Amino acid sequence: MTDVKTYQQFIGGQWVDAASGETQAVENPAVYQQIARVPASGQEDVNRAVEAAARAFETWSLTTPQTRSLALLKVADLLDANADEIGRLESLQTGKPVQAAIDEMAVASDLFRFFAGACRVPEGLAVTEYLEGHTSMVRRDPVGVVASIAPWNYPLYMAAWKLGPALATGNTCVLKPASRTPLSALRFAEVVAEALPAGVLNVITGSGGVMGDMLVAHPKVRMISITGDTVTGKHIASVAAAGVKRLHLELGGKAPVIVYDDADVDLVADTLRFASYWNSGQDCTAACRVIAGPGVYDNLLGALADRVKTIKWGNPLEHDDLDIGSLIGKFQADKIELMVNNAIEAKAELVVGGHRPANQGAYFEPTVIANPDQRSEIVQEEVFGPVVTVQRFTDEDQAIAWANDVKYGLASSVFTGSIAKAMRTARRLQFGTVWINEHFTLASETPHGGVKESGWGKDGSKYALEDYTVVKHVTINTGI
Ligand code: NAD
Repeated sequence: MTDVKTYQQFIGGQWVDAASGETQAVENPAVYQQIARVPASGQEDVNRAVEAAARAFETWSLTTPQTRSLALLKVADLLDANADEIGRLESLQTGKPVQAAIDEMAVASDLFRFFAGACRVPEGLAVTEYLEGHTSMVRRDPVGVVASIAPWNYPLYMAAWKLGPALATGNTCVLKPASRTPLSALRFAEVVAEALPAGVLNVITGSGGVMGDMLVAHPKVRMISITGDTVTGKHIASVAAAGVKRLHLELGGKAPVIVYDDADVDLVADTLRFASYWNSGQDCTAACRVIAGPGVYDNLLGALADRVKTIKWGNPLEHDDLDIGSLIGKFQADKIELMVNNAIEAKAELVVGGHRPANQGAYFEPTVIANPDQRSEIVQEEVFGPVVTVQRFTDEDQAIAWANDVKYGLASSVFTGSIAKAMRTARRLQFGTVWINEHFTLASETPHGGVKESGWGKDGSKYALEDYTVVKHVTINTGI
């Protein structure tokens, strides 16, 4: 029997239980075992956290960029110093391979370092006399208290996407990690507490379904930044509309990979082995929808199938050389199994995988499905698992039309030996990112975010600083 620790949550610099005293379980999905209990927050906890953040905003919003920058650099150092421990916690609550989870901590600390630098060089319109006798200037002020709502697929990394730009620009945050994965955020808050004044970062735990609306609707929350499912994003947008709140929505994805006949097949197959299956395919940018030319289709399908058979997956508690670990929970394995079965019933071909092992944990074999119909569920809906479909297109127009023919618009890629074809295609793809002869790479400096039902707003890059600030025009009647 594993030790089950009961955590407290972090409000206004204090560690506290839920006002109700209620707790809820956190499970290790690799073995279906309870590993911790965390506070199950309700209205009173939301009120306390938002009030603490609102109080802290009064002073944090008046600090200089240098002060905030130095604080975030310290946050990054503290995270690095504790990366091994927090990474292991991340692995335990998500079922990821341990080293992959530890490596995510370095990506998160780099985000804090990037925003620590970027907030010191704000850009804007030149101050001058656009009207005679009046000097105009544009300020970029923080929005206020930000509710930062994170998903379970990269729990602390996604939180860093939100906290970095929000804190760097003078906002204060109430972070709500996903109910399945609160442990890394709680430990992070503990580790970095010495770098931030009380109330600047608060972490409350519990179910989004229970207390999410309370947080979003709280009158002192001025902005909601959510990374999650499109259905959740739409719901949050509707609740936020009543208070006309600013939204930052990073929602679902269904990334197409257009492979033209002149593509390097080995490069495509090697890239997909990683970019389609990393994190068990539980990635909003996963390369899950391959659209291949008639001349390359057969070769690519064979090369991809060979690569996928070599993916090493299993329980991270038992192996340290895995490519991928478990899924996030039984519900996810159930959903993937249903969607794969539906695809096969609809006459798509199962090429590799397709089964759910009998292990005590949430697993699904890395899978390749060929020839699904463009309008079928497996092509149109997010699977969020280790499943790739491969379709055969007839010409460039059809490839681009199929790629764009989903409700999502987060990320996409194109593989070709022709720079002109690549640039033509990149122009016509309706996605926030287009990779060329590549899929998946991101740096703290590059913007990530979608169009259509994948949401709006950018994570990473200087554009995130714009999302977390409001433009204010100040004009002076100078009389000359
Ligand atoms: P989810 O929508 O179930 O949950 C996301 C967060 O929203 C969780 O913290 C959850 O507790 C909270 N939540 C749920 N209901 C709420 C409510 N009514 N009010 C406020 N908060 C509420 O998403 P998930 O299952 O944790 O994550 C997977 C989804 O996230 C996928 O759809 C994936 O594509 C998406 N995702 C998108 C990006 C991106 O950058 N666009 C990145 C990662 C994940």
